[in-house]
Amino acid sequence: ATEKPLNFIEQIIEDDLAAGKNDGRVLTRFPPEPNGYLHIGHAKSICLNFGVAQRYGGKTNLRFDDTNPVTEETEYVESIKADVKWLGFDWAEELYASDYFDQLYEFAIKLIKKGLAYVDDSTSEEMAAMKGTPTVAGINSPYRERTIEENLDLFVRMKNGEFAEGTRVLRAKINMASTNMLMRDPIIYRIKFATHHRTGDKWCIYPMYDFAHGQSDSIEQITHSICTLEFVPHRELYDWCIESLEIFPSKQYEFARLNLSYAITSKRKLLQLVNENFVTGWDDPRMPTISGMRRRGYTPEAIREFCDRIGIAKRDNLIDVSLLEFCVREHLNKVATRVMAVLDPIKVVITNYPEGKVEELTAENNPEDHESGSRIMPFSREILIEKEDFMENPTKKYFRLGPGLMVRLKHAYIIKCDDVVKDENGEIIELHCSYIENSRSGNDTSGINVKGTIHWVSEAQAVDAEVRLYDRLFKVEDPSREDGDFKEYLNPESLQVITAKVEPALKNATLGTPYQFLRKGYFCLDPDSTTDKLVFNKTVGLKDTWAK
Ligand code: ATP
Ligand code: MG
Ligand code: MG
Repeated sequence: ATEKPLNFIEQIIEDDLAAGKNDGRVLTRFPPEPNGYLHIGHAKSICLNFGVAQRYGGKTNLRFDDTNPVTEETEYVESIKADVKWLGFDWAEELYASDYFDQLYEFAIKLIKKGLAYVDDSTSEEMAAMKGTPTVAGINSPYRERTIEENLDLFVRMKNGEFAEGTRVLRAKINMASTNMLMRDPIIYRIKFATHHRTGDKWCIYPMYDFAHGQSDSIEQITHSICTLEFVPHRELYDWCIESLEIFPSKQYEFARLNLSYAITSKRKLLQLVNENFVTGWDDPRMPTISGMRRRGYTPEAIREFCDRIGIAKRDNLIDVSLLEFCVREHLNKVATRVMAVLDPIKVVITNYPEGKVEELTAENNPEDHESGSRIMPFSREILIEKEDFMENPTKKYFRLGPGLMVRLKHAYIIKCDDVVKDENGEIIELHCSYIENSRSGNDTSGINVKGTIHWVSEAQAVDAEVRLYDRLFKVEDPSREDGDFKEYLNPESLQVITAKVEPALKNATLGTPYQFLRKGYFCLDPDSTTDKLVFNKTVGLKDTWAK
């Protein structure tokens, strides 16, 4: 097999290893903020962080970036852990940026003592006015030259809750004329009287992202801190903090975030869809969340393969969702149990088949996997086939059922359509057919060659199932780039619910088992199923729309 070329992150790691950096250690981290469920973009980041660590004998920490007490919840923490595990990855340590609050506070004190941070009493409007623009230097705050003693006193009192929210902040003292706006004395601590999901009411000051992330990396001795491109301008500040604090020099590297066509990959927007009931929840099978994809029937193998195929880019791009669907289909083809389900039934009476007789036919579970065994399918005089497998006035190339035409019933007999029975309005009610007795699959001595094979179920033994058919959640390729509210571009036909007739073996269907409804696509049982009512989700169709 030919080796895949290294991606640029792997190249950096190999160079570091060759140069003997970090004593040959590779430690990455996946740092979600627990303010929503993980989506396909996070899957990309997970595969990258865990993937490179595995490749170089390293480890990966799962670190919850939980420094904002307002938006974070324990429910999200639990879902994130479940999703990472489901994708197939194990973290070395489960960590929380909030566990470093004491340490981060000490870091802030250290900066103040070095004359590198000050308490600013300006209002946020005043600070914005002094910030300047990318082409015009900012103005120093009147509080910038406070003494170290005064700053220490005020910061301790900020921590002790003596000041109201918004009245004071701690800022790094860097350079108000920097071409990088983030270096113009960024705020590093703010007052917030909010209850944190882990530290409760212990703190009323919280570090900003830029004063928490790099330091958390450093505390854990992360060697390669991989993040998305929007953090490129933050890297200067990341390095400044580490250098000023003289702590372990973690390094930040950036790659392009994954954008998927016909989908949204922003937790904030996905949360809107959930809160405003455009979907049934974070795990709605139409959602590009990991939990939604799991419920839809996507497999971890398929998602990992997808992440691998798209590679690591340095420039933002939009990935075609049909590549993801291709990967899902490719994996399900190998593992799905084949069954028969008729989604839009029409009745067929086999007039020359004995009344009351039920034959037990053997059907293989997966031709791609001969160890998967077989099952029994009942066959009888009255069966159901797909309406679209009959054509009253068949065209020349139509090889399924039509008046006088023959077709094979999969795993069963060849039948011939003798009569089309209609009601008074001319609507077809049922088809009368005859079967060729010696044409049974596996034991066919009829010598008759038919071109078409169709699926079917025996009417008396078939089971009703609710089937949920999904289309894309959005009508446009890139909903976040359109004008106006992204919700205007939702596809009103993204969910269609029908009742299908499925073969009786599906009464024993289990959650997490992939099925191929022959000729119809891949399906999986939905957790809404009960013992009285089966519910299936369509995972993906059989037809490949991905141009390789
Ligand atoms: P969102 O915009 O959806 O809120 P986020 O970046 O704020 O995303 P985090 O929880 O902070 O969400 O993300 C955890 C990690 O996953 C970060 O390292 C982030 O860069 C990465 N990540 C998030 N979205 C994507 C994406 N679309 N493609 C690749 N990586 C992503
Ligand atoms: Mg983030
Ligand atoms: Mg975010």
